Amino acid sequence: MTEPFVHRGFMLDVSRHFMPVPEIKRLLTAAAYCGLNRMHWHLTDDQGWRLEILKYPRLTEIGAFRGDTHFGGVSEAENNCGFYTQQEVRDLVAFAASLGIDVIPEIEIPGHAAAMLAAYPEMGCRRMRPGRPEKDAETNPYNYYVRVSGGIFPDLVCAGRKETLRFLKDILDEVIDLFPFPMIHIGGDEALKVHWRRCPDCQRRMRKHSLGSEDELQHWLVLKIGEYLHSRGRETIVWNDVLEGGFLPDYFIVQQWLGNEDKIPEWVARGGRVICSDTRCWYFDYPYGAIDVYKIWQTPRIPAYAENHEQLLLGLEAPLWTERVTNTERAAFMLFPRLAALGLKAAGQDALIWPVQRNRIAAIQEKIDSLGLYGAPPEYWQMPEEAAEQDRQADLNRIYAPDALPFVRAQEKIIRLDETERLMRKIGIPEDFLLQAGDIVMDGQDSPETPPRADGADVLIRQLTEAVESRKWGLWSRLPEDVWLDTMKCYPRFIAEHRRSCGTDAFDRGGWTVRQAGARLFRIGELGYELLEIPSGQSGEAEQPAAKRCISLHIPSDAKLRQDLLNKSLRKARAFLAEYFPDWADLPVVCDSWLLSPRLKEWLPADSRILRFQAAFDVEEADLNDDAALEWVFHIAGEQRAAMEPAALPEDTSLQRRMKADLLAGGKPGSARGTLVRDF
Ligand SMILES: [Zn+2]
Repeated sequence: MTEPFVHRGFMLDVSRHFMPVPEIKRLLTAAAYCGLNRMHWHLTDDQGWRLEILKYPRLTEIGAFRGDTHFGGVSEAENNCGFYTQQEVRDLVAFAASLGIDVIPEIEIPGHAAAMLAAYPEMGCRRMRPGRPEKDAETNPYNYYVRVSGGIFPDLVCAGRKETLRFLKDILDEVIDLFPFPMIHIGGDEALKVHWRRCPDCQRRMRKHSLGSEDELQHWLVLKIGEYLHSRGRETIVWNDVLEGGFLPDYFIVQQWLGNEDKIPEWVARGGRVICSDTRCWYFDYPYGAIDVYKIWQTPRIPAYAENHEQLLLGLEAPLWTERVTNTERAAFMLFPRLAALGLKAAGQDALIWPVQRNRIAAIQEKIDSLGLYGAPPEYWQMPEEAAEQDRQADLNRIYAPDALPFVRAQEKIIRLDETERLMRKIGIPEDFLLQAGDIVMDGQDSPETPPRADGADVLIRQLTEAVESRKWGLWSRLPEDVWLDTMKCYPRFIAEHRRSCGTDAFDRGGWTVRQAGARLFRIGELGYELLEIPSGQSGEAEQPAAKRCISLHIPSDAKLRQDLLNKSLRKARAFLAEYFPDWADLPVVCDSWLLSPRLKEWLPADSRILRFQAAFDVEEADLNDDAALEWVFHIAGEQRAAMEPAALPEDTSLQRRMKADLLAGGKPGSARGTLVRDF
């Protein structure tokens, strides 16, 4: 027989909907019938703080109460409010122990903290936009409320101030006194970093500890808390999201649910312990249409990442999130008999054939029924596809019920802001422009219907959002990360160029994303490569020759024309095209640029890098009237050229001196078109 797992658990979320102690005792009794030995008690979240903390009474005075809920399709006011006194907690923990069940409390850090911050707003990040109107109280991401809808919010405790750390440690001190079992869960999932990116304290903390991203800041905070718990003889459980910021010492246990699929195997390979709560099989708030009892029987008890590391897999745990579970009847329906199936699997009693397992499960369910907890009837145990589809749809209808839609949209907006800001950070958008762009999303000014802004931040945010979406689902999803980021780095350049020529931040290169989004234009290292299809012939002509294709080379204004860098870019581009666009790989590379202007030969020394760049091309056509070079050489944008006063132009470089003299004499810088015939 297979050995039972040491961790055979379920998680009860009492934040979204409160469950009185006597009801939890019934569930615990049933869980014991299922052979479980752990209850993970999810006590705090955005929608309610449920644990009495003597030192911070407002946590329950304010955090345990909320108004109407908008979880959609279910009772609006049932079990919205309530908390557990410390006496009740001790009583429940003792009761569970009498059944052989240990209770693991969860205090969510740093996210899902809206209820905590509604009670103690001074523990949140410093407000970034003081004086902002209080409109849309619920959807405004800069106000702290006990949230009345489900979702992911940016309400994080501030990781920058030491008062917050003291506050969290004080809370955990009381938690340690209440819960004798050595494991404490501190959450760590779904922490949107929108506030942290704007908080001077959080940013100072990142600089002080040389943390490269807000994910690393979360990792730092979790590490601090874990160290503290360790010093008090406890082990810390976190959701696997925390691994985004780096690995953790061995007194941490990672609970795997969703995401970072590469980091979990690595964590296990390094000897890290793990609890499996994979959404694909163990999320019992998901409808039976997604996870029926038969599917649980079919699912291997060892997930792929833990194969050959079985001693590191502590066990299985099924979370019951309660956004749409308002009372014990519904909880019993969702939990049973799925918990019986989990219990058998976790105990190593994995019957070889389904009818045997089914009979065992039915026998356990019968005992549970005697407690007045009625699980899902047998037609839910092994659902035919059509019924399963209906069941899944019914669940979606609850999530997207009409009264919940405004909240779903508000949440989508916040997540979009978080993702876009994360990209903007990565590609180096200037800080003040980034903040403006973020405000635009939250104020809803980023829709095409609103009048354009002078600074172009609305266009930028629309384009970057499109880019983020396309990265997830579109053509870019198959491209390598480094090519994508190189390409995205064109945006900060546009902003910098505008600032240089106009003195203000702005973004005004509208056509860029359209070409990029069609996977037509990439920046790879120093140079840009555009897959160009030149339409053929004139309209009205009888015969249309085939369209001409080529790869058009762009020289970004921040490109370093060093031979080694150019050749590196070229090599990488050739490999990239061969892999992703093989039809284009052997087409000619053409360049149309002032950098190929024959005039440059008169102005530059023979060993100039620009002339070496020219030498790689066969120049076919020159346009000596073109003055596009002025933008690059003198930083003069399009409209400014008409009013340009050549005598007033700066002459800091030898090229500027020569070109200015030529302009004063009535000359033009010119440009030319050439085909690349050799490497640089
Ligand atoms: Zn902060």
